[in-house]
Amino acid sequence: MPTDPDTGYDPSLGRKFIFVTGGVMSGLGKGITAASTGRLLSNAGFDVTAVKIDPYLNVDAGTMNPYEHGEVYVLKDGGEVDLDLGNYERFLGTDMTSDHNVTTGKTYQHVIQKERAGDYLGKTVQIIPHITDDIKRRIREAAEGSDVCLVEVGGTVGDIEGMPYLEALRQFAHEEEDEDILFTHVTLVPYAQSGEQKTKPTQHSVKELRSIGLQPDVLVGRCEDELDPEVKEKIALFCDVPTEAVFSNPDVEDVYHVPLVVEDEGLDEYVMDRLELSDEALPKAERSTRWRELVTREREKELDIALVGKYGLEDAYMSIHESLKHAGIDTRTEVNALWVDADEMNAEHEERLEQADGIVVPGGFGSRGTEGKIEAVRYAREHDVPFLGLCLGFQMAVVEHARNVVGLTDAHSTEIDEETPHPVIDLLPEQYETEEMGGTMRLGAHTTSIDSGTLANEVYGAESCTERHRHRYEVNPEYIDQLESDGLVFSGRADNRMEILERDDHPFFFGTQYHPEFRSRPDRASPPFVAFVEAALEEREAEQTDEVTA
Ligand code: GLN
Repeated sequence: MPTDPDTGYDPSLGRKFIFVTGGVMSGLGKGITAASTGRLLSNAGFDVTAVKIDPYLNVDAGTMNPYEHGEVYVLKDGGEVDLDLGNYERFLGTDMTSDHNVTTGKTYQHVIQKERAGDYLGKTVQIIPHITDDIKRRIREAAEGSDVCLVEVGGTVGDIEGMPYLEALRQFAHEEEDEDILFTHVTLVPYAQSGEQKTKPTQHSVKELRSIGLQPDVLVGRCEDELDPEVKEKIALFCDVPTEAVFSNPDVEDVYHVPLVVEDEGLDEYVMDRLELSDEALPKAERSTRWRELVTREREKELDIALVGKYGLEDAYMSIHESLKHAGIDTRTEVNALWVDADEMNAEHEERLEQADGIVVPGGFGSRGTEGKIEAVRYAREHDVPFLGLCLGFQMAVVEHARNVVGLTDAHSTEIDEETPHPVIDLLPEQYETEEMGGTMRLGAHTTSIDSGTLANEVYGAESCTERHRHRYEVNPEYIDQLESDGLVFSGRADNRMEILERDDHPFFFGTQYHPEFRSRPDRASPPFVAFVEAALEEREAEQTDEVTA
């Protein structure tokens, strides 16, 4: 039978789908549970991919505030997506595309465009079947080429926004064979004052699921500790699943340990049996243990890195934290991030800056905190502290150099000061032509050519690199000659766009117009982050030696 063009249904494919929903409340780490399941299946030899469903009306995450949603993650095709996709890329070691993030905005936009084009041939266009069909088609298309596709539904069961998705999943399960579909529901198992683990919230959320025709196959209880055996039994009885299908997801010190914890509970075996994958799975002894080795690797050294940002929320800089962690795995170092608020450089924050072995100035938008960032760059430059500037951090390093080294008083980026006498950072030409905000920046993977004999060349060990971008402004070409003086060098370019800067009068001063943090993986740390961490380690050692000899 040919593929159904509306829903993408093709019975000959026999792909497996794991749907992951959440109950009780958001923020339970559904994404991490899903990604961990995926990691284990991938260790067992399967090609795993993932789809994140975000039931909001935004077409993508590009216009969303990091305060509310955490960082906007950028994919190689330029998709601006929910940060969960970053977790999937890091846990699964794959590169995804915008098609792996399904939003209500995207779905409705597409269906409405089709309606305007007359494609529905006079029919009444409705949520069921038109929206639900489109959702199913998107999931099936994103799953193409993989053995198993994880599908995480954002939000909590019972949310109005999530309803069309859950209905689509119900139909999806109805269309596919039983052994190809598995529903995992992640809920909260809180402690009562008496110290007892309570199952009622789980029972209620499963009841909610069942009222819309979905019966979970696997239940994962988020709790501070592992679930007691009686608690698992109780959940099994009331939610109508076998006791072996109830798993705990206790608090762990590092999210990278979740795959290890759920593996110890046997989640992977249960899922593979249920999806009839066990015969095809690699025997236990042959499964990859690389992840376990990486995430449990001994850390012999320690570092303090200042992160000078304006969003006082760890999730807003998630990929940077992760990249520092990856560089830590690579160099066997525990990397601690010290939060420095660029908008409020008070004594406490200044002290952290001084205490740090290295300084990162991350990306951002708008003027708030930029003077603090410029001061942090200045501190790093003047005190020979290893420095990594990313996107806006790179741009502020240019501004700092222009003002304080070249002497261009009041130099700035026109994003922050439109009237500056020296617009050393200015809008990209194509940005003058658009009024739209969403999806219009210079986005996604672009290649940078690197000059030989430079720090950048050493960092990448190559004469080019391909990294992900998300920016509207760039170094103003008219100022390049003036800026490349007194220590500053643009060592990476894409045509006449400045992509990498470094200083030849400093132990490690490196800035990138792109965001290397989006390509960093636990087993493939980003080169600029590794080089930065190595430089910071040297700095720390030198300081400790100084202290001893003093
Ligand atoms: N706001 C700056 C720009 O648009 C930097 C963007 C960023 O840091 N991602 O160019």
